[in-house]
Amino acid sequence: MAFTFHRIPVGIDNCFLLRGERTIFVDGGAWGGTPAFIKGMKALGVEPQEIQLILLTHGHWDHITCLSDIQQMTGAPIAIHHRDQPFVETGAPPFPAGVGAYGKAMSAMARALLHPKLPPVKVTRPIGDEGLSLAEYGIPGKVIYTPGHSMGHVSILLDSGDALVGDMAMNDWYLRLTPGLPILADDIAMVVESWKKILPMGIRRVHPAHGPDFPVEVMQKEITNFRGVK
Ligand SMILES: [Zn+2]
Ligand SMILES: [Zn+2]
Repeated sequence: MAFTFHRIPVGIDNCFLLRGERTIFVDGGAWGGTPAFIKGMKALGVEPQEIQLILLTHGHWDHITCLSDIQQMTGAPIAIHHRDQPFVETGAPPFPAGVGAYGKAMSAMARALLHPKLPPVKVTRPIGDEGLSLAEYGIPGKVIYTPGHSMGHVSILLDSGDALVGDMAMNDWYLRLTPGLPILADDIAMVVESWKKILPMGIRRVHPAHGPDFPVEVMQKEITNFRGVK
C-alpha cells in the first residue's frame, strides 16, 4: 500500500494518521476530542482496530486527554519517549514553562487553574534517545528525539520532507499569530538546538500540533534570528 498521511484535529491537538503497510496514529488528542477522532476515522474509512501503534510526540495534557479512549478503541500499544512516560502513566502531566511575557502569563494561568487528572495509561513501547525507525511499520520515516518543549519530546520526520513536530513549533491564534517557535517550553534554547539537529535532515514542510502547516523556511529564519531567552 502506498504511504499516505492525514491530519485529524482532535480537540485543539492536530493528530495524524500514518498509513503504510501498517497504520500509526500520532498523538492522543485534547479535551472533548474523542467524537472528532471517531469522525476522522470514519471519514477516512479506517477502523480504529487497524491502528497498530499510538505514537506520542510528548506527554502534555493537551496531547493525551483522549489517549485512554483511543487506546481502548484501537487496542494499540503506546510509544513515547521515556522522559515523558510518567506523564502518561500517572495521568498528571506538568505544564511547560512560558517563553516571553505572553507565554509566561499563559503558563502561570494554566498552572493555577488546571489540574489535569487523566486516566493513567500504560506505555508499552518507551522510546530511547536514539529514536525509532518506522520501517518495521512499512512507513517511510523515523522518530527523532527533540527535547526542549518537554524533556521527552520527539518529532516524526517523513521521507517526503514532511515533519510532524508536535510543540516544537506553534501556529494557532491563541498561542501565536504567525508560525514559529513555541511560546511554551521548559528550555527554549534546547528547542533551538533540537531544530538545529533536524533542519539538515531534509524537512520541507512543518506540521505543528497546534495550527496549520507551513514551509520550513519559516523555522530556518526563526533559528537564525534566535537571540537567547528574553
Ligand atoms: Zn506541549
Ligand atoms: Zn500542545
